[in-house]
Amino acid sequence: MIEVKNLHKKFGKLTVLDGLDLSINEGGIFAVLGPNGSGKTTLIKCILGMVIPQDGEIIYDSESILGKSDYRNKINYMPQIANFPANLTVLELIEMVKNLRPKPANEDDLIALFGLESHLEKKLGNLSGGTKQKVNIVLAFMFDSNLIILDEPTTGLDPIALIHLKKLIQKAKSQGKTILVTTHIMSLVDEIADEIVFLLDGKIYFKGSVSKLKEETGEKHLEHAIANLLKKQYV
Ligand code: ADP
Ligand code: MG
Repeated sequence: MIEVKNLHKKFGKLTVLDGLDLSINEGGIFAVLGPNGSGKTTLIKCILGMVIPQDGEIIYDSESILGKSDYRNKINYMPQIANFPANLTVLELIEMVKNLRPKPANEDDLIALFGLESHLEKKLGNLSGGTKQKVNIVLAFMFDSNLIILDEPTTGLDPIALIHLKKLIQKAKSQGKTILVTTHIMSLVDEIADEIVFLLDGKIYFKGSVSKLKEETGEKHLEHAIANLLKKQYV
């Protein structure tokens, strides 16, 4: 579904992606992991055409996407940092995003799921971080797309909201969708990821299932398996 070839991205002198190759098949949950600053968001933004790489190619649904924008209609995206206009209400924001996208939205069940009914008339600037994140989740899931990209969707969520998010991701998978997700919550990755993509030094350092990573590092716990990866004990 997504084919990334020899992707290079530098910000000034800082090399973030250094000839990254990655192939994501259609259907399933892919966890993009890596230390802070390893380029997860940069990779995601390259796929979305929000960051332009210096070199390399990205193929989505058999077509090169560099310089194109139509393909974005086929992607649901939840950004890591959502800078919502502070003066809009939640409802106004939802309506605005619906008007921007040329496809039907289904937000009512999501609003109910995350208990946002009582917040709809509030200004975004007055919401708590966790509530803003729930709005962010509604915006990402209210459209029907085959590819869903979630950049740190778990930040600031309470445990109940986390369970709802997990179920939404699993439901999307059961519908044959592809989900790319970054998160620091390893228990979530352990539970739902079909494949881990681990970024380090601008490249994919490990790609495979959670059980493969545990097996190859000789660790039962995912946190320890990843720590092991980082110590470069894994070859
Ligand atoms: P991650 O999401 O894995 O934490 P990012 O992709 O956000 O990492 O960032 C990777 C590196 O690139 C960081 O060192 C970050 O400071 C830098 N970076 C990201 N975006 C920019 C930008 N627009 N300009 C300059 N540096 C950037
Ligand atoms: Mg990031």
